[in-house]
Amino acid sequence: MSDYVVGISGGIGSGKTTVTDLFAKLGVDIIDADVIAREVVEPGTPALKAIVAKFGVSVLDESGKLNRAKLRTLVFADIEIKNWLNQLLHPAIRELMMMQIQQAKSKYCLLSVPLLVENKSYEWVDRVAIVDVDEQTQLQRTVLRDKTNEQQIRAIMSAQATRQQRLAVAEDVIDNTGNREDLIETVSQLHQQYLKLANQKNGELNTD
Ligand code: ADP
Repeated sequence: MSDYVVGISGGIGSGKTTVTDLFAKLGVDIIDADVIAREVVEPGTPALKAIVAKFGVSVLDESGKLNRAKLRTLVFADIEIKNWLNQLLHPAIRELMMMQIQQAKSKYCLLSVPLLVENKSYEWVDRVAIVDVDEQTQLQRTVLRDKTNEQQIRAIMSAQATRQQRLAVAEDVIDNTGNREDLIETVSQLHQQYLKLANQKNGELNTD
């Protein structure tokens, strides 16, 4: 089990996935909140059964999986439904997240949460790292990756925390405005730092 959890976040297109992939190559276990949010509503899960019981099978696609776009439309229209869904999903997400952290084998693990800064329920992490680029770079890289238009990406960006809000809570800022070689160097330095911090914490825990 990893006793040391580094929460990692950043705006859309800042390079969270790119960064966590690099940490994973160094043997660090990655726990991804987005992946977990999908796992808790996989076919056969209690959460999906509850959703179908409430909305009927029309929220499923042909293969029996949750039609997330359909559910989003239902939720968007009704605050009570939104609350109901949050009360169902948040504990399920939290439980699976804690289980994956407990099962992590690396000396520390990374918890990747796109809305870490927006969400107060992650204050327990040991450290917060923010992947940072200027807004223009964020926009350009996301447009290139998602093949969408700037307007759509701008809309997502304006619903997220601002760059300043993210930087205000960052204990480590991972500057990703440079090239991939620069990023590899930054990640490997941080990796050494996190190994040390995790060891320190373990030492403290063992002498308690
Ligand atoms: P996020 O997970 O934060 O949304 P990604 O890791 O998917 O962001 O990065 C967004 C896009 O930018 C991807 O297509 C990725 O390959 C590219 N990218 C990431 N870092 C760099 C970099 N340093 N230089 C150029 N392109 C990058």
